[in-house]
Amino acid sequence: MNVMPKNSMVQPEYSSAAKKALARRPSLFINNEWVESKTGKTIDVIDPSTRKVVSQIADASNEEIDRAVAAARQAFDDGRWTGLPPIAREQMIHKLADLITEHAEELAELEAIDNGKNAGVAAGMDIPASAGMLHYMAGWATKISGSQIDPMAAPSGAFHAYVRKEPVGVAAQIVPWNFPLIMATGKIAPALAAGCTIVLKPAEQTSLTALRLADFVVQAGFPPGVINVVTGLGETAGARLSTHPDVDKVAFTGSTEVGKIINRAATDSLKRVTLELGGKSPVVVMPDVDVESVAAGAAGAIFFNAGQICVAGSRLFAHKSVFDKVVEGVAKHADDWAPGPSLCPEYRMGPLVSDEQQKRVMGFIESGKKEGASIVKGGDSPSDAGYFVNPTILVDVNPNMKVVREEIFGPVLVAQRFDDIDEVAKAANDTLYGLGASVWTKDLSTMHRLASKIKSGSVWGNCHSMIDPALPFGGYKQSGIGREQSSTGVEAYMETKSVIIAL
Ligand code: ADP
Repeated sequence: MNVMPKNSMVQPEYSSAAKKALARRPSLFINNEWVESKTGKTIDVIDPSTRKVVSQIADASNEEIDRAVAAARQAFDDGRWTGLPPIAREQMIHKLADLITEHAEELAELEAIDNGKNAGVAAGMDIPASAGMLHYMAGWATKISGSQIDPMAAPSGAFHAYVRKEPVGVAAQIVPWNFPLIMATGKIAPALAAGCTIVLKPAEQTSLTALRLADFVVQAGFPPGVINVVTGLGETAGARLSTHPDVDKVAFTGSTEVGKIINRAATDSLKRVTLELGGKSPVVVMPDVDVESVAAGAAGAIFFNAGQICVAGSRLFAHKSVFDKVVEGVAKHADDWAPGPSLCPEYRMGPLVSDEQQKRVMGFIESGKKEGASIVKGGDSPSDAGYFVNPTILVDVNPNMKVVREEIFGPVLVAQRFDDIDEVAKAANDTLYGLGASVWTKDLSTMHRLASKIKSGSVWGNCHSMIDPALPFGGYKQSGIGREQSSTGVEAYMETKSVIIAL
């Protein structure tokens, strides 16, 4: 049952670049300047691998949020960004991406210190994906176009009618702590391509890379006020942003609970809203698969990023004829995900992000046990040094249990059997969520039939969490509103205007 630690549980010393970033004065990035909070209030930055406070960030007050919104408003209204030739905007966005790539090592380390994810994994995944999203979206800046349409009820040639695409205005972007830089760049990239100006609020647990990103904003040559970065608490700074009358659009990624609060807050002034929220994604394993390779994939689907990913494959449905072997295989691969300090290269998985998150996840495991689930792997923590939770697999579960119904956001898998595809489609859809799903089979017909039956924004075949900037991403049901990424994600930052001129 145990998951063995691989080596040392001691976090190595930080590099001098990381120490420098941690030593910066807590401040907010408004109008291309670093300003200190007037209240002097700060939030501790904690390394989840050590539980130690390693830095402080500013906790923005209402007044400072208002300043940031005013800067973005001014920058939008005077046309210093929207008015630039699209190619100039495209080049600046590429430049920002290049600066991320140039500082990849430092950013990966900061992500590891702040979030707890492994630095090597961040260097191989988070940082290139962040630059990649900016590069992809930069191209849209020069490709957005409207169309010319003939009115249906007017004689031909009597009117000249066309459709314009215009940026929606000031975008408030509120992001979570699980992929700090990916989330920040994923939000700003389409907004910049569309011509919006931005106030970005990273999560209070993980603001370090967003602050470094702000340094690069100046170097890339963005005019003041186009990208503002404010750090602060959700209930105060986040709430102020999502209700601010000068904000035209709110884009949020985070929990479904907070998504609903933000949606309600934005309703008063009918702001445009996109929400990317929670999930409880099914992993469906058909009987014809190569169990060994699927077990490795299913383990990665749930244990990657310590399960702190909105599309985590947290509900495993394996056909009854292969169930025992699949669970055994995932349990074996769980050993490859033994958690350890984020700067130790031998661990793929780090601690959870916070004390709160560790308690929450352990609480779910306890509730599973109380409700009758059996633990076949993990269920405990390898060390008190950080917020570690071992990869955990629960069986003997039923659809009414909390561990099956609710998003855990940790390395906890619940495994169930099924008999036929109608049954598994129904079970997979028996959730409030609909963000991602994967189907593992060699049978193409089964693959496509399940892909159409499962109600979720992404369905993966023989892979999981395959998220790409060129493909729309978002949720059915309570997993969100709207789609991000692809041209659809740029559209989400645009208004559509019909111009009809009598000739
Ligand atoms: P999680 O539950 O995964 O910690 P949250 O949904 O609470 O994530 O937080 C995601 C982001 O939303 C963070 O930047 C957080 O500060 C912000 N946030 C939290 N509560 C609110 C709120 N009431 N209004 C606006 N933003 C909020």
